[in-house]
Amino acid sequence: MAYDPDNVFARILRGEIPCRKVYEDDHVLAFHDINPQAPVHVLVIPKGAYVSMDDFTANASDQEIGALFRAVGRIARELGVAEPGYRILANAGADAHQEVPHLHIHIFGGRPLGRMLPDSAG
Ligand code: AMP
Repeated sequence: MAYDPDNVFARILRGEIPCRKVYEDDHVLAFHDINPQAPVHVLVIPKGAYVSMDDFTANASDQEIGALFRAVGRIARELGVAEPGYRILANAGADAHQEVPHLHIHIFGGRPLGRMLPDSAG
């Protein structure tokens, strides 16, 4: 899938629409999800134009990949969820119901998060 430069996270990166920022560095931006599913629900995105985890892991530099995962761990610690725990999730593609076509890693925390997938899954 070609990258859509008008997706909502591209617009956030360009400053065209606001976000509640929690972290930023040269390669990464993180902000609160607009529709939180847990007391802590933050989205961590690369600044580069990558559609999904598939695109990112195929085409991003080692520096970009390292920066994204370092940021996830750092943000979780700074938000106070490293203990007692948190979940990260990245939906990639149609079967995963990826809604925004710019790679984003969800960080969920602040309450017990239940099972990994709904019981009806499988
Ligand atoms: P996904 O289904 O993994 O693509 O998740 C997309 C996420 O982006 C959802 O959790 C939305 O609530 C969130 N979202 C959509 N628009 C915004 C926005 N403008 N600011 C923050 N989060 C957003």
